[in-house]
Amino acid sequence: MPTQEKQQNNQVAGDFKPYEISKGEEYMSEKMRAHFTKILGSWKLQLMQEVDRTMHHMKDEAANFPDPADRASQEEEFSLELRARDRERKLIKKIDKTLQLIEDEEYGWCESCGVEIGIRRLEARPTADLCIDCKTLAEIKEKQVGK
Ligand SMILES: [Zn+2]
Repeated sequence: MPTQEKQQNNQVAGDFKPYEISKGEEYMSEKMRAHFTKILGSWKLQLMQEVDRTMHHMKDEAANFPDPADRASQEEEFSLELRARDRERKLIKKIDKTLQLIEDEEYGWCESCGVEIGIRRLEARPTADLCIDCKTLAEIKEKQVGK
């Protein structure tokens, strides 16, 4: 089995230009924070639209299958959808938490060891709250506990 980071619904929304750090610019300057606020904001919007869309779709379709077999497979499909939506809702919560961190100027540093998480890692995973080392360590521990 591949040991990649768990498959999550973690696709960051929209196109954004990778942040260009000006010479002498300090880490998590106001401009940098604005950059991430924007990324997180549009990501959240996209997730919310997705949740909305599915809910409408499910309401529209729910009444359309008189055959019990069809209904069963539809229910299965719905429950998969609901689980996906549940993940998205959790992600939205995490995005909100992250936006708050930015506001409090506490964003961008590893929660565990305090080093800078780094612009590039944050652009790939704007909700990351651990540096890559601590994240790797946490995943190893998680795997051990899981067994
Ligand atoms: Zn760390």
